[in-house]
Amino acid sequence: MSSTKPSAEIAGAGLAGLAAAAALAQRGWAVRVHEKGKQLREIGAGLYLWQNALDALRVLGVYDQVAEVGVQSRTPRMLLDHNSNEIDLRRQQDTTPELIVVLRTELHRILAEFAVANGVEIVTNSKVLGADPEGRLEFESGWGPKVDLVIGADGVFSRVRDSLKLATEITDMKDGCGRHLIPRRPEDSVNQRRIEMWNGGRRVGIAPVSKDQHYVFLCCPESDIAGRVQQPFNLEAWASSHPQYRSYFERLPRHPEEYWRPFFHVSCSSWTKGRVSIIGDAAHGMAPNLGQGACVALVNAVVLARAVSAGNDVPAALKTWEAAERPYVLRTQRMSYLYGAVGTKWPRKLLGLRSKILPLLGRTDLVQRNLRVALDHKPAI
Ligand SMILES: Cc1cc2nc3c(=O)[nH]c(=O)nc-3n(C[C@H](O)[C@H](O)[C@H](O)COP(=O)(O)OP(=O)(O)OC[C@H]3O[C@@H](n4cnc5c(N)ncnc54)[C@H](O)[C@@H]3O)c2cc1C
Repeated sequence: MSSTKPSAEIAGAGLAGLAAAAALAQRGWAVRVHEKGKQLREIGAGLYLWQNALDALRVLGVYDQVAEVGVQSRTPRMLLDHNSNEIDLRRQQDTTPELIVVLRTELHRILAEFAVANGVEIVTNSKVLGADPEGRLEFESGWGPKVDLVIGADGVFSRVRDSLKLATEITDMKDGCGRHLIPRRPEDSVNQRRIEMWNGGRRVGIAPVSKDQHYVFLCCPESDIAGRVQQPFNLEAWASSHPQYRSYFERLPRHPEEYWRPFFHVSCSSWTKGRVSIIGDAAHGMAPNLGQGACVALVNAVVLARAVSAGNDVPAALKTWEAAERPYVLRTQRMSYLYGAVGTKWPRKLLGLRSKILPLLGRTDLVQRNLRVALDHKPAI
């Protein structure tokens, strides 16, 4: 890498690592990304990109490409209870936030191509073992070069984070989800309005994700064996709890490529140490109940690039970035945790009570402020 430019090494070529790499390269940094996989890869599923993430993509300059392949959702989702009654959490004064649902593979491809076009070097088959706060990554072959900035974007089980002892707890939520893509048909009701339906601890979500596909997520507690089995997919188990969506479940592959995955909640003492920072799931892995994990990662990546480019003191800039961005992400994590507890762990005998109190609680200022905290946060990007 050129010695005249500030330099960065990044562990992990997921959405967070690629966004950070592209944002830094745009600001004149020489950036190398290390990906442990043999090739760059994202899973075949959908992703909700809310207004905050779309603003970050606008700053990067890839919003138009994402909007072209994704599906804009202009109406709020329909949340249904176990009796198919709508649970309306919206207040009259609330605006519907901008949302694009996109294929993960497409967003990942767009970010990777954009990063490379801006001069980022991506090295696959390059597993990172840890990091040194002085600004180096460690590999099986030894220590890499000393650089101005190191970023750990290596996911929930981050080696960078753990080598610096930044994690305080990684919690298995005992709750998780299977994700699928199915063919889209013109007569599907979700073409008009995406849905989420709760029944007991199971939650089904269906949204159009491209011109010819819907994204389907099927969440349930780990203890729900029939709900989480994927090989083969148990159609009758889901059709019995959500009969009105049987025709969608019938389109699911019997042996899906993806398995049921548990959710993890990552808690850290800090996101930075010396010249090293962690971003994305490495820093704030959360259950995806608010659809904000990747969104806040994209925002954080762009804001971090701006912060470290503003002066020469990288460790100080990282501290300033963390102080500005971390509090709202912690609130988002907490809210996602609570949403999951209500959606998945609520006692079966009291489902009627859930349907009654949710609209009342959900419309309070306190709950709305916390649900929308990531949308309302205005970072200096
Ligand atoms: C079911 C589900 C649905 C979700 N839905 C949404 C949603 O709708 N909207 C939203 O905003 N968020 C959503 N999320 C969260 C979102 O998927 C994550 O927050 C986001 O993908 C995290 O990206 P990341 O780059 O931090 O981590 P990852 O995607 O885990 O990427 C980490 C990368 O680092 C690589 N790596 C790991 N270890 C090493 C190593 N030691 N050396 C080198 N490379 C390494 C990995 O191979 C990978 O490529 C969802 C999550 C789940 C589980």
